[in-house]
Amino acid sequence: MTTTYRTCPLCEAHCGVSVETDSMRRRVISVRGDADDPHSHGYLCPKAHGLKGLHEDPDRLRRPLIRDGAGFREVAWGAAFDFAAEGLGRVRAVHGVDALALYVGNPTAHDLGSLLYLPAFTGALGSKWAFSAATCDQIPKNLACREMFGGEYVIPVPDIDRTDHLMVLGANPAISNGSLLTAPDMPGRLRALRERGGKLIVIDPRRTETAALADEHHFLRPGSDAALLLAMVNVLFVDGVASLGPISKLTNGMAEVESHVTRFTPERVGAFVGIGPATIRRLAREFAAAPSAACYGRIGTCTQRFGTLASWAVDLLNATSGNLDRPGGAMFAGSAAPFPQAPVREGEPEPYGRWHTRVRNLPEVGGQLPSAALAEEIEGVGGERLRGLYVHMGNPVLSTPNGVRLAKALGTLDFLVCHDLYVNETSRHANVILPSTSPLERGNADVFFYPMAARNGVHWSAPALEPDPALRHPWQVLLELAARLSGADTAVIDDLLFRGLAATCGIAGEALEQVGGSAGPERLFDLLLRSGPYGLTLDDLDPHGTDLGPLEPRLPGALATPSGKIELAPARIIADLDRLEAALDEEPEALVLVGRRQMRSNNSWMHNVRALAKGRQRCVLLVHPSDAERCGLEAGDLATLRSRSGKVRVPVSLSDSIMPGVVSLPHGFGHTGEGTRMAIASALQPGVNSNALTDETLLDPLSGNAVLNGIPVTLEA
Ligand code: SF4
Repeated sequence: MTTTYRTCPLCEAHCGVSVETDSMRRRVISVRGDADDPHSHGYLCPKAHGLKGLHEDPDRLRRPLIRDGAGFREVAWGAAFDFAAEGLGRVRAVHGVDALALYVGNPTAHDLGSLLYLPAFTGALGSKWAFSAATCDQIPKNLACREMFGGEYVIPVPDIDRTDHLMVLGANPAISNGSLLTAPDMPGRLRALRERGGKLIVIDPRRTETAALADEHHFLRPGSDAALLLAMVNVLFVDGVASLGPISKLTNGMAEVESHVTRFTPERVGAFVGIGPATIRRLAREFAAAPSAACYGRIGTCTQRFGTLASWAVDLLNATSGNLDRPGGAMFAGSAAPFPQAPVREGEPEPYGRWHTRVRNLPEVGGQLPSAALAEEIEGVGGERLRGLYVHMGNPVLSTPNGVRLAKALGTLDFLVCHDLYVNETSRHANVILPSTSPLERGNADVFFYPMAARNGVHWSAPALEPDPALRHPWQVLLELAARLSGADTAVIDDLLFRGLAATCGIAGEALEQVGGSAGPERLFDLLLRSGPYGLTLDDLDPHGTDLGPLEPRLPGALATPSGKIELAPARIIADLDRLEAALDEEPEALVLVGRRQMRSNNSWMHNVRALAKGRQRCVLLVHPSDAERCGLEAGDLATLRSRSGKVRVPVSLSDSIMPGVVSLPHGFGHTGEGTRMAIASALQPGVNSNALTDETLLDPLSGNAVLNGIPVTLEA
């Protein structure tokens, strides 16, 4: 028997796992929590056990598939790569490079090889039309942080282990274990906060599993987070307690903030938010008076019509209460292996609005176009349209707004290539599906999320299993496609990538010669480590994970704004305040839809793993009893839920944990079985696609992020 210590790649928490395999490393015996992991101390959530199920899943593709007539047939890798590159190349030759696009799904961020080799592929593809799951998730936070701190990933995180007061909005870390916050065992960490006398406040349209651990929970109307937070900042100024604390010499715009928040008094926003003025004042005063405090906002603060404003307001509250960049407040983690970000050079345009979509003229943000616009861009306007698409580890039919429209549009593409483990709701439309090894067969390390960790650290995960020789790693797929699209040799591209990264990392000469290993992400990761602030190499790392200590103040060093200061009142964000103020007078919708995260699911991942899919139906609609009565519904009824975009029929569960006027449905479901090969998902947890209801016309206009929370709906028996 062989034991390998690594991290679970299924979410941002990166819990340490101990994987036991047979001595030949061909079969998984068990997956357990690694008690010696310095960050997770043995904690695991149920999803980690699905790693074995995922590896063994008979529905997981073991050979590339090419569409042949109405169905798929297996082909050899060489033929599949040739077919994929020829198809994409043909679209490019006939219609130009702007007829090609890329969609990058969420698992990409959890796979080092994908992150490091995507640039080689996109360079060879040549298209600037990039869509990703980020625009249905966190791009408002990226934009707000670039405006305030100068970098899309200069993102403060709550110093969860030391704070005295944590206010959580639009997040359910007891279930998600943190998002844009790497912190294994969040339930334990939240309990520890209260055990040391700290206070936990949860503000959410649903009394979540996190709220069950909290001192206080307050319902808030979906989409009103920004108004609440700005009213709290207003209270700090009115009370004369607004203070920048340790960053007092590092900011621009404090006076502007004070003048702009005057229009968001507790009285003015109370009805819009759904929380009374007295409570808003108390929340603000307690936050300011706590020895240390941190505000943490996540998916609910981003996936709404004021996503960028809300993301900015979270850090504005942290900053103006003196809690930014101090222990116990909101801090910046240090990355041991910094992922190089393309710097904006003097005279270059900022990465915002350098190009726009054809149909709605929506701006790119950090190189990304809104996924909510993908379907219409395939449908086109005036004959101009996207005709070829490469999807890397994504299922946008279930993950992006109006997935029904997108599914239809995918069927009209001239050529679709999907890199995926399954024939799923998106890849079923592909001309060619290129599968990959399972996560346990790959070496991996996180370079994306550790810079947002609650504690500094790094972990190299060696492969637990010998890779199946009949499969390819994701980085190999990207490299082979890049070679065929560019006409260059894979070895040449890999060497260029290595030398380019070395140059970016400032590693040359003798230092470069010390970087060992052959092609692949492992030696690139070694480069990143060597360039990092801790000066580590792969050989220095502990197999159980390396702890690099608690968060430390990192300003002004972490700032990348042109002024070298924190911009508290960025012009682009301030200009959006009029839209928020106008919304305060709107008549509230009678019923709106919000999402819901579940412990055994991460987006649409893992739905085909029997151990996680078994049990009661999880895709049920939570309805407050008063709304159910109004709509003539009883528990267990099948109801029709309708929006501008579509309708679904879904079983109802009555609960007073959901705010009156709000209904909640988890996303990632809708496994109808039609054309897919995910037998367990469609048999055990089919559910309905919540993105049949989300509306692709609703966006946060600043960031282009989809509005997935606060969708107007009607409900009928
Ligand atoms: S919380 Fe669960 S899914 Fe996330 S890393 Fe830990 S074990 Fe894996």
